Amino acid sequence: MGKMTVVKTLALPQVVHLLRVLPISQKQLKDLEKIFTNFIWGDKPALVKKDVIIQSTENGGLNFTDIVSFSKALKIVWIKKLLSYQDRSDWKFVFFYLSKNVGQNSLWYQDRPSLLKIAKQIKNVFWKELISNWAELNYTPVSISDILYMPLLHNGNIPIKKSPKYYASLVSNEICFVHDILNQNSGQFLEFPEFKKRFNVDLHFIHYNGLLQSIPKVWKTKINNEYDITALTEEPQHIELLNSKEKTSKIFYKKYLGIYLDKLTDEQNTPTAVRKWNNLDWFNLKENWNIIFSLPFSTTKGTKLREFQYFINHNVLYTNSKLFKIKKITSENCTFCHSKPETIEHLLFFCEKSKAIWNNFLNILNSSTIYNIQCEPNVLLFGYFDNSDNNSAVSNSALNLVLLLVKRFIYVSRCKDNLPTIEGLLKFLNYHIKIDYQSVKSPNKKWYSFKNCQFFPYKD
Ligand SMILES: [Zn+2]
Repeated sequence: MGKMTVVKTLALPQVVHLLRVLPISQKQLKDLEKIFTNFIWGDKPALVKKDVIIQSTENGGLNFTDIVSFSKALKIVWIKKLLSYQDRSDWKFVFFYLSKNVGQNSLWYQDRPSLLKIAKQIKNVFWKELISNWAELNYTPVSISDILYMPLLHNGNIPIKKSPKYYASLVSNEICFVHDILNQNSGQFLEFPEFKKRFNVDLHFIHYNGLLQSIPKVWKTKINNEYDITALTEEPQHIELLNSKEKTSKIFYKKYLGIYLDKLTDEQNTPTAVRKWNNLDWFNLKENWNIIFSLPFSTTKGTKLREFQYFINHNVLYTNSKLFKIKKITSENCTFCHSKPETIEHLLFFCEKSKAIWNNFLNILNSSTIYNIQCEPNVLLFGYFDNSDNNSAVSNSALNLVLLLVKRFIYVSRCKDNLPTIEGLLKFLNYHIKIDYQSVKSPNKKWYSFKNCQFFPYKD
């Protein structure tokens, strides 16, 4: 997790500028992704698959950046600049020149099929990429506002004699959208004489009528039934998003990530470990994965401890069973009892040596606090929470930290090839509670229930 922070805060900012200004191929993005993955997991295979770590923590992810969505989102800023009247940069003329036959700025209002066709016509790789990316976000026009803002020209929905048309004279007079040829009070389409009178455009009667006739019937009916001048105040949703106060790249990153995740199958986006734990007969938290996955993050700020519980949840903590499977050692037996395979659940709970520690510890905990925690694997391995109470994770964060520390102590003992002892555990708790106590905002409140415990460092 520390390494992911390094990638997010140090490595990614280095490439932001390049991703923003240069066209980039799928292969280049894959290579970049590989560099980051190798850095995070070292030369070992990734412990948790990429399609999971890019998700939110409650879905078992770590909010790690998906490079492809990130690169798409960064480039959106160019569309924002193009559509902004305040921005008068010179580079805009390059785009207007390149897109002069496809509607210039009105092209950003097209629906997906039309945009994809336009992307094919544009030769410049940078703009081609940007238009295709934008097409991914767009949709079939449904609402009255969507329809009023549909471009008149180059629109696959408005084919004149089977192919979308383009009339330079309309564009140069800024007649770009369906609403431009409406009488804004009545919502009726302008008749040719009215149109002529208003715009003084050099467009033949036949062409104008052809255009009117090609507008889809469903749109006309919708406009007829629902037109209201306020419908014009609402621009199509992705154009609206460009104007929102939040950072453009952030909003569009979420959009692109959502599109990417939606395309994944359940198999691809569900953490592998969920199936493993769900299949164990003692496991009774099948409905609570969102809470389980969030718990380490509300329990502690310590990266190491969070990571430790994250690895338990994802069933990727290194134990003898796992090391044996990847052929690093010759026996998978438990470090403590030498008689059973050392799986995570065996090591941290079912092993008689570990169970003895738990029993001893729970006696101390239950006799000196309000808690009555049973010696059973669900709570002890995944944490204590009341699934009917949303605040339960926060109000029990001290308890969950203590439970996490017991597991961590057992694991540390295993790594040192020591049998865990209760004296060792109490010292370990005392030390780590001190660290937490000094780092949280209202330690008194958080640790109130523990003030009578013998392992609690602060006595009255
Ligand atoms: Zn054992």
